[in-house]
Amino acid sequence: MGFAPLHPSHATCATVTMVPSMPAESGRFAERLGSLGRVVQWGVHELELAALRRAHPLRYLFLEVTRRCNLQCAYCGSSCGPEIERDELSIDQWKEVVQQIARDFEAPQVMVAITGGEPLMKKGVIDLMAEIDRLGFPFGMVTNGHLVSAKTAEKLVAAGIDSITLSMDAPRALNDELRGAGSGEAVAKAVENLRAAGYQGILEIFSTVTTPALAELGRMRDQVAKMRISRWRVSPVMPIGRAAQRPDLVPDAAGVRRLLEFVRTSREDGLLPVPESCEEGFLGRRYEGKVRPYLWACLSGITVGGILCDGRIGACPELADAFVQGDVKRERFRDVWESRYQALRDRSWATNGICHDCEELRRCQGGALHLYRSQDEEPLRCLYQMAVAGQP
Ligand code: SF4
Ligand code: SF4
Repeated sequence: MGFAPLHPSHATCATVTMVPSMPAESGRFAERLGSLGRVVQWGVHELELAALRRAHPLRYLFLEVTRRCNLQCAYCGSSCGPEIERDELSIDQWKEVVQQIARDFEAPQVMVAITGGEPLMKKGVIDLMAEIDRLGFPFGMVTNGHLVSAKTAEKLVAAGIDSITLSMDAPRALNDELRGAGSGEAVAKAVENLRAAGYQGILEIFSTVTTPALAELGRMRDQVAKMRISRWRVSPVMPIGRAAQRPDLVPDAAGVRRLLEFVRTSREDGLLPVPESCEEGFLGRRYEGKVRPYLWACLSGITVGGILCDGRIGACPELADAFVQGDVKRERFRDVWESRYQALRDRSWATNGICHDCEELRRCQGGALHLYRSQDEEPLRCLYQMAVAGQP
């Protein structure tokens, strides 16, 4: 199956991996052609992006079914925890929403990503999954693995799930320190249970990389290999949510550079897993096309939509409230998708602060939307500038 991997949105909002605009092979071909090839590659990419902006076909839909989580990671980008803090949609309301969306869009063309919080904390979520499957959507979820018991694994398989992303941020000892005791074991057990249940879909590990985990990247790769998982995505933790209060965990410029170098060189050594970086922004010439098999684009609101746990309509779950577009309790998702989202589809406003005189503004277009608090501000950080500044 060729579905795009899911967002690890309960830990951090990583960058887009939904619609690679340039297949890996053509990227390698462009690389062989040297700088002219890269110029052509970017030219095609920019044309494709402009066409997507105009057509804005819905291809990826987040359903943040709950903000509750059985863990309380110190660096959770969504600040999730054990309590229900918002007036969440019920499973029946979610079913009505997805039924309506199936009537209004081509369900097989829309990948549904069930996120949280921890999605399995939402009572009835597997019934919702079965309904999503019945309606013809490909779908998956992001989970910390703790609740994927043998029985739940069987139910997930029976519900027709296509893609499962498990969060594990470091080798077991450090992972437990960062995410809570037993977290590494929970992921290993979830993998075992899913395999025993006959799960055949996409299985991947997502690692939100904190400063202490930078020194453990090689060992983490070995651990993913030992679990016989070939898909491993990594991203540096972002300074949002609870991580904003933990600067000691957020990699600095040298740390970002170290992570990107690890991914770049690992992707060339022919071993599994091949790490893929899903950083939140444009990375510049040294890394674009070399740490992930596509070129940078933020597709939030262009091909990516989303519904928050309380019914508010937006796109990626970590977007600031300023980018909320409507509410499924009052409005039809399709009407909102077709008539609003102007600020997400036309980023000509994204020239504030650090972006104003940036030499890469045309290619980057102001970076990742989830790093803005509003249209009047600059992004919280820029990985391109960090990667350049982190040069030894
Ligand atoms: S806001 Fe943009 S960059 Fe951020 S996760 Fe969404 S699509 Fe990716
Ligand atoms: S400064 Fe702004 S436009 Fe330039 S690379 Fe960074 S985020 Fe993109």
